[in-house]
Amino acid sequence: MGQCLFCQTEIREVLTLQELFDFGKKDRGTVCRTCEGKLPRLTGQTCCSGCMRPQESTNLCEDCRRWSSCYPELKIAHHACYAYTGAVKDWLQRYKFQGDYRLSAAFTNDLQAFRREHPKALFLPLPISIASYEERGFNQCEEMLKRAGIRYVQFLGNQHAGEKQSEKNRQERLLTTQPFSLLVGHEKYLKQEIILFDDVYTTGRTLYHAKSLLYKQGFRSVRSITIAR
Ligand SMILES: [Zn+2]
Ligand SMILES: [Zn+2]
Repeated sequence: MGQCLFCQTEIREVLTLQELFDFGKKDRGTVCRTCEGKLPRLTGQTCCSGCMRPQESTNLCEDCRRWSSCYPELKIAHHACYAYTGAVKDWLQRYKFQGDYRLSAAFTNDLQAFRREHPKALFLPLPISIASYEERGFNQCEEMLKRAGIRYVQFLGNQHAGEKQSEKNRQERLLTTQPFSLLVGHEKYLKQEIILFDDVYTTGRTLYHAKSLLYKQGFRSVRSITIAR
């Protein structure tokens, strides 16, 4: 069934009857069971209800309370699949910064599961700046959706010319100005539920720029998901 994308061992799995039955729904064979078991999954942990930061209660964390006062019109909620540590951090390093394209398939199961939970919503991968695109040659989020077979729309542009979020510290990230603009044709999606998709949630700055822009244009049902936070 191929090699595990995380540890390169050959995947030879004996499927249970239930898994055989589910086979059509799942894209098996990209991550071995051992690695999958070690991934720092956030679902099921006690987390901030706004950003899934692990903490003692589900109350909004300090950062999310700040977003809430900054954007009282928005619902402060976000879904992240994993903690940005260990294997997940290595994955992003290899996939996004070293350009190992095979790794776009690593989280197909998580994306497809989210898709099934929100069958009517449209995915919208956050666009990267032209400079990042020229350097990398691909939008890491769009490629993940393509590999997962998930249809998406793109009606946001990213006007930021050069600066890269990944090279900024926390304070610089928080001060980032609105990078997004709406492209022609967005009007026809106004009544739709939108799922903004990005790879990592760091301060929330980028996602709240996108959410507030969409809100101002009349979008009323916008949620967000990232692989990590
Ligand atoms: Zn493995
Ligand atoms: Zn939070």
